[in-house]
Amino acid sequence: MAKRDYYEVLGVGKNATPEELKKAYRKLALQYHPDRNPGDKEAEEKFKEAAEAYDVLSNPDKKARYDQYGMAGMDGAYSQGGMNMDDIFSQFGSIFGDLFGGGFRTGFSGFSGGGGARRVLRGTNLRIKVKLTLEEIDRGCDKKIKVSKYVPCKTCGGSGAKDGKYETCSHCHGSGIVTEIKRTILGQMQTQSACPHCGGEGRIIKDKCHDCHGDGIVKSDEIITINIPAGVQDGMQLAMQGQGNAAPHGGIAGDLIVLVEELEHDTFERQDANLYYNAFITFSQAALGASIEIPTLSGRVKIKIDPGTPSGRVVRLRGKGLPVVNGYGRGDLLVSLNVWVPKNLNKEEKKLLEELDKHENFQPNPTKQERGFFDKMKEMFN
Ligand SMILES: [Zn+2]
Ligand SMILES: [Zn+2]
Repeated sequence: MAKRDYYEVLGVGKNATPEELKKAYRKLALQYHPDRNPGDKEAEEKFKEAAEAYDVLSNPDKKARYDQYGMAGMDGAYSQGGMNMDDIFSQFGSIFGDLFGGGFRTGFSGFSGGGGARRVLRGTNLRIKVKLTLEEIDRGCDKKIKVSKYVPCKTCGGSGAKDGKYETCSHCHGSGIVTEIKRTILGQMQTQSACPHCGGEGRIIKDKCHDCHGDGIVKSDEIITINIPAGVQDGMQLAMQGQGNAAPHGGIAGDLIVLVEELEHDTFERQDANLYYNAFITFSQAALGASIEIPTLSGRVKIKIDPGTPSGRVVRLRGKGLPVVNGYGRGDLLVSLNVWVPKNLNKEEKKLLEELDKHENFQPNPTKQERGFFDKMKEMFN
């Protein structure tokens, strides 16, 4: 694939200032950032293409060469696939990295961008499961859960140092990064990576705290209160920022990810915000009409059964379902009315029923519509 003109890629003119170049690149890098476009190959290509264009145009030597000789002047400095992702993040990460809280995707994973080049350590996310009844989901609730997680060490205040003091790393002079200069046909190429001596922090501990062995964090059982919003569903994840594991050396704590597990209910079935309930009525109630009480998640309600109600009729009680999570209103309660057929009849009961059976009005005589239930059955067992 032929490469596009670098000026065209960034959408700038030949006389663009360094600030304009940076702005144009930053805009593209954010648009095609892999964190925003997971698994999108095309976005990744665009991301690389923009980085390569910026790499050349922001460097006066390379820019001069490119302006004079065009792509031929690059002489294969970039392989077919363009710059590799690690290089992009380590060279240009600071231009767009601070907008992504989750730390850099590659190379510096485990660090979070913040201001200068020095990296701040980040705690890991903690995942827990919370079991909820439909009643709890109906109202929303505060759940107290015991979790085992890393918290800042009390002895050293989370610093990991005995006296709370650090020394500037002599290897990187506190910058947290080491720069390597390679000579290529194009001139000098700089590559930067996290300082191996201090792990990119730019500082080292002289005397380690005894209680946490210099980590600044210790494992502890904590009771966490989780606010569960009404209407959540099985499989949903709630993220509580900063409630995960504490980070070493006073860094940024990870998140607590709460996975919702809905417990089966004895009475109701759920589908999204709607609830389903099977009510059983007697033959007399179905034939004569009646008023019956049925349960809801917030107390019992009365419903009217019309005379001549066929078994299987569904009554919709609007707004008696579950709240819509992060939305407005509630779902419905759908009540299926089923005629109860008694088993084990005694002699007297049999006699009464046989008497009823002699009346022509009690012989099955379905309408065409009632026969049509057959279609529904086929649909159900399809
Ligand atoms: Zn260092
Ligand atoms: Zn400590």
